[in-house]
Amino acid sequence: MPASIQRKFIFVVGGVLSGVGKGVTSASLGAIYKAKGLRVTALKADPYVNVDAGTMNPIEHGEVFVTNDGDETDQDMGNYERFLDTDLDSNNYMTTGRVYLKVIENERQMKYKGRCVQVVPHIPEEIIRRIREAAKRHDAHITIVEIGGTVGEYENLLFLEAARMMKLQSPADVAFVLVSYLPVPAHIGEMKTKPTQHASRALNSVGINADMIVARGRLELDKPRLEKLAVFCGVSRENCISAPDVPSIYQIPVKLEEQDVGNKLLKVLGMKRRQTDMKKWHDFVHRILQPEREVKIAVVGKYFGTGDFTLADSYHSVIEAIKHASWHHRAKPVLEWIDSERYEANPAKVKELAGYDGLIVPGGFGSRGIEGIIRAIKFAREEKKPYLGLCYGMQLASIEFVRHVLGKKTAHTVEVSPDTAEPVIHINPNQAANVRNNRYGGTMRLGAYDCALRRGTKTHAAYGADLVSERHRHRYEFNNEYREAIDAAGLRVVGINPESDLVEIVELAEHPFFVGTQFHPEFQSRPFRPHPLFRDFIGACLA
Ligand code: GLN
Repeated sequence: MPASIQRKFIFVVGGVLSGVGKGVTSASLGAIYKAKGLRVTALKADPYVNVDAGTMNPIEHGEVFVTNDGDETDQDMGNYERFLDTDLDSNNYMTTGRVYLKVIENERQMKYKGRCVQVVPHIPEEIIRRIREAAKRHDAHITIVEIGGTVGEYENLLFLEAARMMKLQSPADVAFVLVSYLPVPAHIGEMKTKPTQHASRALNSVGINADMIVARGRLELDKPRLEKLAVFCGVSRENCISAPDVPSIYQIPVKLEEQDVGNKLLKVLGMKRRQTDMKKWHDFVHRILQPEREVKIAVVGKYFGTGDFTLADSYHSVIEAIKHASWHHRAKPVLEWIDSERYEANPAKVKELAGYDGLIVPGGFGSRGIEGIIRAIKFAREEKKPYLGLCYGMQLASIEFVRHVLGKKTAHTVEVSPDTAEPVIHINPNQAANVRNNRYGGTMRLGAYDCALRRGTKTHAAYGADLVSERHRHRYEFNNEYREAIDAAGLRVVGINPESDLVEIVELAEHPFFVGTQFHPEFQSRPFRPHPLFRDFIGACLA
């Protein structure tokens, strides 16, 4: 048995406003400790009552990030996986709903042996159990725990209470980082520390004092501001860290490490200083900031009129995967979101797609905008524009092919047209029963499944392997009744799940690059390891 290690925990909490960058800060801390040769894992604790992120509207919540073990989690988990270059699982994610559900299940099973089950201590105790369990599962020296929401609000109090209790249990093993925001009001023109002072007080009122403040804002922290933060928030001056806006989130590990953030927190945790090898990150940032050319990608889907911010959030991993692949080719990705409904109103408009180097149709649900998407896919197929279809993008590419190449005009998915005579995309009986009985939460085909690849195809060449594993999140499937026909007509079935014989990848012969995947390859793209299909798709776009 290897000697047991002293596990350390860093809690990251947010002050002043949401969206301040807790997730990227947490992920960056993880990257730094990895670059120090330590084993690291990261958890997200989300305050909402939903058991997972799968039942929330993407407009409200952003992307649902799927882990290998099929958990439907928050997009911050994607940032952790990308920055840590590691696979996480359901141990790394919790919500208020999930914690309560477990405590209530325990109570029903008499696990509290007749005691009165209380919000405190039983809820924080279950939170702590989960944090320690994740640390153990990943055998982590350092476990980073990001608490969702902002200090001072009601919803995340029990997570903060759990953090406080852990600090009491083992004071030397727990550190707190407050990621806060310092606004620069236009009429004043300088950074203001007061909101952060209030956030720090709010944290004090729940029994926690920050060990470090990461000061987010438009500008660098100057000396007077730093002084104020240190004095009024009770944080040492050296632990007030400047984190101004930067062009790319992938610069943040480098920026933080320039201020020796990793060692400063190790000191809080009673650990020795360690060298950091940030070369990979430096090289990567150089690639990002010094592109040699551009690649122009159209992302076609149904888009809601809520502005770019939310939209980009809903496809976070897709965007990151496009970036990783583009940077691999030393190209700067230029993404444009195209609302497919414009091609329904005006089919001739589809010709505008000639102005792009390639086309992506990401995942989606429901009927809105899909006829427009099918028009865009037809254009990509006929005009030989590189195409990558992700999940719904694969299903709709198959429907387009059956309609226009096999001539079966009514071809459809039963998701949209339950009684279609040509159900190219259908539903298996288990899934149909889930839908009939309103069993929506956590019941899709979720998580990693094997996929056997056909040799001599672009897909096989991209992966350079016969068998791969990819993550899924969908309810409907390609109908094997159509398999031989599409394959013979040129939309080749090149990836199959060996256990279920389900179609996982289709690829057009006689086309520079036209691939549709039933799974979501974007979840496994990493900064230093772009996903092979995205990589070769962008390669084809640049060719
Ligand atoms: N709506 C489709 C399904 O449920 C595709 C889902 C997706 O793109 N994630 O099968």
